Amino acid sequence: MSTLGTEENPLLVAIVGSGPSGFYAAEALIKSEVNVKVDTLERLPSPYGLVRSGVAPDHQKLKQVIALYQKTADSPDFNLIANVNVGTDITIEELCQSHHAVIITSGAETDRKLGVPGEDLNGSYTATEFVGWYNGHPDYRDREFDLSHEVAVIIGQGNVAADVSRILAKTVDELKHTDIAQHALDTLAESKIKEIHVIGRRGPAQAKFTPKELREFGELSDCNSIVREEDMLLNSESEAELQEKSNIASKKIYEQFCEFSKREVDPAKSRNCYFNFLMGPKELIGETKLEKIILEKNQLSGEAFKQSARGTGETIELETGILFRSIGYRGVPIAGVPFHESWGTIPNENGRITDNDGNIIPKLYAAGWIKRGPSGIIGTNRACSVETVQCLLEDLEKLADKTNKAGAEEIYSILNKKNIRYVNFDDWKKVDAKEIEVGDPKGKPREKFTYVDEMLSVIDS
Ligand code: NAP
Repeated sequence: MSTLGTEENPLLVAIVGSGPSGFYAAEALIKSEVNVKVDTLERLPSPYGLVRSGVAPDHQKLKQVIALYQKTADSPDFNLIANVNVGTDITIEELCQSHHAVIITSGAETDRKLGVPGEDLNGSYTATEFVGWYNGHPDYRDREFDLSHEVAVIIGQGNVAADVSRILAKTVDELKHTDIAQHALDTLAESKIKEIHVIGRRGPAQAKFTPKELREFGELSDCNSIVREEDMLLNSESEAELQEKSNIASKKIYEQFCEFSKREVDPAKSRNCYFNFLMGPKELIGETKLEKIILEKNQLSGEAFKQSARGTGETIELETGILFRSIGYRGVPIAGVPFHESWGTIPNENGRITDNDGNIIPKLYAAGWIKRGPSGIIGTNRACSVETVQCLLEDLEKLADKTNKAGAEEIYSILNKKNIRYVNFDDWKKVDAKEIEVGDPKGKPREKFTYVDEMLSVIDS
């Protein structure tokens, strides 16, 4: 058989997941010296993962990266096989038989647990559910969020918490020309929320927002952003952290909080968003649904950059009927692939998947959040996927297999036998065009189809 990676014997790679890391991995493979055919599998009929269903609807600029992914998808060496659930509709073992290598880029689909009593009370939601719901993700289409309470609490001070709080803080006018799902806009239009409390377990120098995201809270049309001046006092370790040149983002965040703390509260605005620090959730209380949260005041301990929050024993109560846990995502296991339970990632060495003892498993690779955990912005995943693809290409000789690989044809044959309806990139283009067409008269970039069946009917029409 001719050398692997040539025109006669192209390297066949299956990528699991069509989010940013999946597309960056496909791009790196297609742009490499090696002759390659990429088959990207996706659970939904729509591609782009978190760019479509995670990035906030009022952050349309961030979604422009899709143009780059479309370029990759237009390559003759790229093929999308969507509406297919890897692990149930087709197994990893089957993909290893049909392809020379498999790259898992399935992201981090679920949330970390808080681990406090009452966490699962009705009225306490995960950020994932809410973000998926307002972004029209089919998994969360039918979730209901009761926004009839005046006080909402968000636990966590990262960019997802910023997204959730900002969506609650904005007016319908600020959202109606975005690609927010219509069902979410209708519910938000009826929202009675007046107070939003964003709770950080550490101090203002440790908040994980990025400066641009925090700045947006100063520009809300009908919501004050409020920080107590006394919360701006720092311990010496936090001061040292902010003086460190490489920590410029935290310094900017701190300065932005200082600016908020000096602002006059505008009584004409109908909502207030409070940033609270050094508080951790101790218990969520309610008979059948959430009624209040008990927060414990914290103090920081440890050296600069390693400070952790310790409870002081002093507690305060906050009455609230709706709470969002936004304390970080975690990956979910895929049948046939090792999983690190406590990290929520697939064990790997620079992208080469290993078993839990560190032994490399041939043919299996990982990239993105399932490889390194949920950190960084969209672009961070590019370098991560490039590293994985480099490892894969270094392994080319080992990947050469004496048996013939049928690639996509074998996948289609397995799916056809099971009567599984799969869609390709041209099918998706029909849905894409229809969404844009439906959104246009409303002044929206698109109106998303939020049920899988709706998308499939558009493809069939
Ligand atoms: P994150 O940035 O890791 O923030 C998690 C927050 O939850 C932190 O404030 C953390 O505090 C807190 N937390 C963790 N465990 C906690 C606990 N047990 N009790 C109380 N608080 C707890 O995670 P994320 O907000 O989910 O964001 C994930 C990634 O996506 C980040 O890299 C983020 O920048 C990125 N993202 C970017 C954008 C954007 O660019 N616009 C938008 C959304 C998300 P500690 O610091 O004390 O751990």
